[in-house]
Parts: sequence; C-alpha cells; structure tokens
Amino acid sequence: MPLRLARTNHDAIVKPAAPLHPIARLPEEWRDALAQRGERAFAAKQIFNWIHRHGVVDPAAMTNVSARLRAALAEEGLGSIAEIVHVHRSADGTRKLVVRLKDGATIETVLLPAVSGPGARPEPEIDADAAAAYDDEDEEDDPTTEEAFRGKTRVTQCISTQVGCAMGCVFCASGVAGWKRHLGPEEIVAQILLGRALLDEGEALRNVVFMGMGEPLHNYDGTARALRLLTHPDGIALSTRRVTVSTSGLVPEIARLGRDFNGQIALAISLHAADDESRSALMPINKKYPLAELLAALKAYPMQRRRRITIEYTLVSGKNDDVAEAQKLARLLRGMPVKINLIPMNPIEASTLGPPDMARVFAFQKALVGSGYSCFIRRRRGDDVSAACGQLVLLGAKPKVKAFRNSAS
Ligand code: SAH
Ligand code: SF4
Repeated sequence: MPLRLARTNHDAIVKPAAPLHPIARLPEEWRDALAQRGERAFAAKQIFNWIHRHGVVDPAAMTNVSARLRAALAEEGLGSIAEIVHVHRSADGTRKLVVRLKDGATIETVLLPAVSGPGARPEPEIDADAAAAYDDEDEEDDPTTEEAFRGKTRVTQCISTQVGCAMGCVFCASGVAGWKRHLGPEEIVAQILLGRALLDEGEALRNVVFMGMGEPLHNYDGTARALRLLTHPDGIALSTRRVTVSTSGLVPEIARLGRDFNGQIALAISLHAADDESRSALMPINKKYPLAELLAALKAYPMQRRRRITIEYTLVSGKNDDVAEAQKLARLLRGMPVKINLIPMNPIEASTLGPPDMARVFAFQKALVGSGYSCFIRRRRGDDVSAACGQLVLLGAKPKVKAFRNSAS
C-alpha cells in the first residue's frame, strides 16, 4: 500500500533533516569538506567537475585525484545512487528512463528531443516541440550559450522530484498513487547525469522541466539545491532561464523561489480551472491556496524582463473544457505576462476522466487566442511508452494507460 497522506496538508509531512549526500555538495562545500580532512582546496573543483561535468560518481575513476582521497571519498559513500533499469524508446524519439534508487524506489525521467529544426512549427496551433513549449520565443538568445546548440537537436528533459505526490490531483497518476517520499537533491540531479549519458549523437540537453512525478515546491529544499547544482557554471551549467519549475500552486514556496533565485527560474503553473469551485474539485491544493492567493503570488513573482509564466491547463472532458471556461480564464489572466499550454488529459487507469474531443480543444484554444493570448495545444509525446504527462507511475505498476486515440492525430 502506498503511504497516503492528507491531500491538502503538505506541511504536516515532516522529514528529518538528512545529511547532505556528497553528490549534492556545491564546490564551496567540497572545499570545506576537504579542508576538514586536511586536503588541498583545488581537489574540490576537480571532484565537482568529475561528478557534474563528466557524470563520474565512482571515486576510483577520478584519475587526477590522489589515491588516498579517492579511498576517503569511497568510504564517505560517494558512488552510484541510481541506475537505469529500463529505457523505453517511443517512435517519436521520446525516451522514458525508469530509474531505480538505492532504497528500491523507482522514478521516471523523460528525454524529449525537439521534433523539428529551431523555431519550426509545422502545425501552427499545435506546439509539437516540447523544447519550444518551455522556451521563451520572445527572448533574444544569448549567443555564447546558443553556440553550443548550433546544428544539434535540442533536448528537453523532464525530471521527478518525489516518489509519488501528496497533492492528489484527480486526473494525475502520481496524485492518485499518493506520496512516498521526497527525492534528495542528489537523486534529482542523478536523473540529469543518467539522461545526459543517454543522449544520441548530435543531441544536446538544453531545457530541464520539473514536470515528472511529484510536486517540486513541496520538496522545496531538494528542488532548490538541485537548481543550484544544475545551473552551476563548473558543472552541468544549464542556463537558469532554460529550467522550468512546474507547480500546482504552493503559494509560500512560489514567493520563496522568487526570492531565492531572483525570479531567474522559469515558472509553470498548473491552473486547470478559472474558478475556485472547479479548481478545488480537480486539485485539492486549491482549498488551501485558492485562486486569488495564487494569482497574487504570480503577480508578485520577480519576473525577468520579457519573460512569461507558463499556464498549464489540462483539459478534462465535462470538467473544465467549456468555451465559457476559456472566457473566464481570459478574464482571470488579463494583463498578466503569460502563455497558455493546453494539455488534453492523458487517460489514467485509476479514473474514468478523459480528454475532450479535439473539436472542443480547438474551440477552447480559439477563445483564448481571440482574447489575445499566446496559447498552444501540447501534442501528445511518447504515448506508446507512457511518458506523456501524468502517466509516470510508481514502482511495480505496469503502464496504467488505457488505449486512447487522439481524434486529431
Ligand atoms: N506537480 C507539478 C509538476 C508535475 S505534473 C504540477 O502539478 O505542476 C506536470 C504537469 O502534468 C502538470 O501541469 C499536471 O497538471 C499535468 N498532468 C498531470 N496528470 C495529467 C494527465 N493525466 N493528463 C494531462 N496532464 C496531466
Ligand atoms: Fe502532484 Fe502535479 Fe500530479 Fe497534482 S498534477 S498530483 S501536483 S504531480
């Protein structure tokens, strides 16, 4: 039985402070740790580099580190903490990695290569390119960072932050399964190290989205440290604006993220409804942080110039898919710097809820575009490997996806 917790009471979940795993240390913390052992400081950067730049976590392979220090690091527990147990490759190039952690729990992470050349959109209203969906097209790209991606297929990786999720959203496989535990920052980062090693020739990791299993801001400490590690220039060195944290709307933590990272981290908000009654029916967290509070937190987020918040709206047939809801949403978001991603719900085993037909999806989109919003329909990716949104399931579970045909595809 998965551990079930009060759905809206995420503050009640208390985890004893775990000691920091060596993989989760920042370079300055490596310097301190080494100084305590009487080691020289320069090894700090070498070790951090091995782990985060080269993906090497086994001290025995750190050839420029002294044998004595390698032994001490192994003694301290530096080494592999996660292994890939399956790679499911979808016909559309999406790869779902099933990753087993040390305690036997499994999580999933997904590699989503861009389906077309930079900027290309074969179907104007369907945003088929997951990478583009979380890029801000309005922004001028930094030429130095962009150079690294010239001629490469840009890959977006979707990562998990918890085993299960406590938020209990009714349309989500992770929510229905319940919360088991937070991931440590080293486990969040390990997904990227493993994913990067699996990239095909000619692919480059460009975007990371915190949209896998779990609510990233419920695991604030793990998420925040993972963000520091992923964006550190001596390591994986992701550009902060290419990292998107998706949240169901934990208001105090949205403010905290804004403060701690000065608004540099891109935000995606799972809104899914334009009034409290329908939102609470889909997402119990809305009872704790209703729409007015959530919107106030978004307005207060220290947004970087020319950037926008992504509003995610999963369309659930008969629940939130009426054109009248789209008009309500347009009024609710008036004046805010947002772009809207519509996601026709991916069916899950545990629920009879499902997506509307595509005619309704297009009508919903048309109403928002007509009101002046930039609004895309997220194409279903990786359906055949259960890698689409909300289909990331827990250990031992078979892919819990009913046969479903998208009427537009
Ligand atoms: N917990 C975070 C991030 C993970 S969920 C959040 O809720 O934002 C990532 C996105 O997938 C969210 O927008 C979520 O609402 C959506 N999602 C979950 N289950 C889904 C499903 N069955 N079909 C379509 N989208 C789903
Ligand atoms: Fe958790 Fe996000 Fe799923 Fe809601 S949609 S249950 S917050 S993972």
